[in-house]
Amino acid sequence: MGSNNSGSEDEAGEPDQRLLAKLKEFHGAGRGFWTDVPEADWNNWQWQLKNRVVTLAQLQRLMPTLTPEEYAGTELANTKLALAITPYFFNLIDPADEQCPIRRQVIPRIEETRTASWEMSDPCGEDSHSPVSGLVHRYPDRVLFLVTDRCASYCRYCTRSRLVSNASGYDFHPQFDRQIDYIRRTPAIRDVLLSGGDPLLFSDEKLEYLLRELRGIKHVEFLRIGSRIPIFLPQRITPQLCAMLRRYHPLFMSIHANHPRELTTEVRDALARLADAGVPLGNQSVLLKGVNDEVTIMHALVHKLLMCRVKPYYVYQCDLISGSAHLRTSVSKGLRIMESLRGHTSGYAVPQFVIDAPGGGGKVPVNPEYVLSRAAGRVVIRNFEGKIFEYPEAEDGTPLLAGPVEIEEPELV
Ligand code: SF4
Repeated sequence: MGSNNSGSEDEAGEPDQRLLAKLKEFHGAGRGFWTDVPEADWNNWQWQLKNRVVTLAQLQRLMPTLTPEEYAGTELANTKLALAITPYFFNLIDPADEQCPIRRQVIPRIEETRTASWEMSDPCGEDSHSPVSGLVHRYPDRVLFLVTDRCASYCRYCTRSRLVSNASGYDFHPQFDRQIDYIRRTPAIRDVLLSGGDPLLFSDEKLEYLLRELRGIKHVEFLRIGSRIPIFLPQRITPQLCAMLRRYHPLFMSIHANHPRELTTEVRDALARLADAGVPLGNQSVLLKGVNDEVTIMHALVHKLLMCRVKPYYVYQCDLISGSAHLRTSVSKGLRIMESLRGHTSGYAVPQFVIDAPGGGGKVPVNPEYVLSRAAGRVVIRNFEGKIFEYPEAEDGTPLLAGPVEIEEPELV
């Protein structure tokens, strides 16, 4: 199960082809420590939730290689963001590798308790854009509808860790009637994103109630669900859930995978069930140090996503969430990865790199520079190979005419 990000690109910044091929293989998560569990239980999402790894004692028993930093972090986790890992996802961790990219995402570390002065508990300014508790109305025509503070497993860099898992006492209590009423009274809202926490933790019936209510609002054109459950708990993507979701189209889903190893055969099958139910799928990754901030890792991730019928949608620069410095990587590294993708692989495989502007400025796209200059009569651009081209254009931006126009002499009568 070797992790590893080392040696992941050659001197020209191209992916290492051998490593890329290896990372693109699909494997099952296996049974790991749970070989005695009956097949029916293992494949049951409620069994997976009930048997999550949630205590330091469980973690120590399953992973005797816990480092002092992880031990101390786990001891304190329940005062900040709880520890929870589904048995299925736990099996993706390589206990022999301290730098395992799966481990770094879900095992707490003591560094989480160190906060820099520029870090925040609400880095996207969600609470200040909340007209009704549990509803974030940041952009004119769409809202973020937070439905729960619980997830199948908890990501140590979670931008919503102030409320998710309720370890720090936020006490999130969504009031669906008030949230839905606000949407009903606001005709500008045409797009509703259900998120949390993870909406797919709800029973089919409870989730369907929300979808039905929202579908009943005439100006709501488009529904989305943001969920990491296809990755943490693919067993939840049952045929019954998919049959229910397909009744509420157009319904899109944004999943959240960060490393190609998260795309197992179980996940591929779950995503196929969603795609077969007509749910368009996109992926949002967070750029994380030691997880996916390498060219080859990101190439493998985006290629595997397309094989799973998922469009790589966004790559986020890690938000300035308190205690996340050990997982943040530089913007320039993100730009280098984007540069290695654009033009070098299918356009469908290229996500948009964004920074959520600290404090609530919204998503800002960040791109390598391809327009070199704009002057009277020409725009100078470069392509993915560094070759330079000119595009003719009038100073005011209108297209230039093809060339001098000859005016015919009028015939004399
Ligand atoms: S699944 Fe999403 S909401 Fe839940 S902990 Fe991870 S990033 Fe946060």
